[in-house]
Amino acid sequence: MTALNRFLQEKNGSKMAFLDGAPPERLCQPMVDYITSRGGEVHMNSPLRQINLNEDSTVKSFTIASLDKNEKKELTADAYVSAMPVDLFKLMIPKQWKGLDAFSKLDGLNGVPVINIHLWFDKKLTDIDHLLFSRSPLLSVYADMSITCKEYEDPNRSMLELVFAPAKDWINRSDEDIVNATMEELKKLFPTHFMGDDKTELRKYKVVKTPRSVYKAVPGCQEFRPSQKSPIKNFFLAGDYTMQKYLASMEGAVLSGKLCAESINKEYSKMPQNAS
Ligand SMILES: Cc1cc2nc3c(=O)[nH]c(=O)nc-3n(C[C@H](O)[C@H](O)[C@H](O)COP(=O)(O)OP(=O)(O)OC[C@H]3O[C@@H](n4cnc5c(N)ncnc54)[C@H](O)[C@@H]3O)c2cc1C
Repeated sequence: MTALNRFLQEKNGSKMAFLDGAPPERLCQPMVDYITSRGGEVHMNSPLRQINLNEDSTVKSFTIASLDKNEKKELTADAYVSAMPVDLFKLMIPKQWKGLDAFSKLDGLNGVPVINIHLWFDKKLTDIDHLLFSRSPLLSVYADMSITCKEYEDPNRSMLELVFAPAKDWINRSDEDIVNATMEELKKLFPTHFMGDDKTELRKYKVVKTPRSVYKAVPGCQEFRPSQKSPIKNFFLAGDYTMQKYLASMEGAVLSGKLCAESINKEYSKMPQNAS
């Protein structure tokens, strides 16, 4: 309801958009191309392992390490940004920063388990080119990707992507149990399609579990969300959990990145001209 209320107040809030393909190619690759064409570097499969500090508690460097060979690399910069999810960032906070209010209040933000289900059917279930909010207690939102997304386009067979939530009691269950429970809910949502001689059959499925997904929007948690500017002069935060008006969403994540860039610009424009 909080999310709906937010979007209903926006002029184009009822508009929904879908990527026309898979995020790695359609969302991430253009960003990588943009960065590398301007001389930047993107290190894949090399997560941040440690935030190293100077004596005054500002950031001295980031240590990253490749996942395959565990080769460590030190990265130094004028400004450092964490765009990690809140649960993972909490594990990285240096002990010198622990007492600072902006970091200690992150304990009030916790990722919620979410399950995403992809189902391929042998017939068409809907003709709706939109995201659907479901009345099922297990399936929160879903869409027929054979209509909404170019890459999955199919005039004769539906491909549903569904968010299964709340997933707390299901995250440790088998894929088969989860798909069976989903199918039972779908029979209630599409009663005529799953009965009789010509009923719709499931061709294949994929279950994607995210044990710590977006932060859980519980009453009172708004005050725990940090600003993009941290109390550490050369360290900044981005991510949907940081303070911005769109809650935990793609739009929220993008807006947090813009606010983060603005904070960095503001901080560094205060510096003398010869400082980088
Ligand atoms: C099943 C599901 C369905 C959703 N559906 C929608 C939807 O329909 N519409 C919508 O607007 N939003 C949706 N959301 C929410 C949306 O996906 C998130 O709000 C958004 O992705 C948050 O972006 P982010 O950049 O803050 O974090 P993330 O997208 O989580 O990005 C954080 C990145 O940090 C990386 N990382 C983690 N640890 C490290 C490390 N140590 N070093 C370096 N990198 C690290 C991760 O690999 C990840 O790529 C959905 C979420 C889920 C789970």
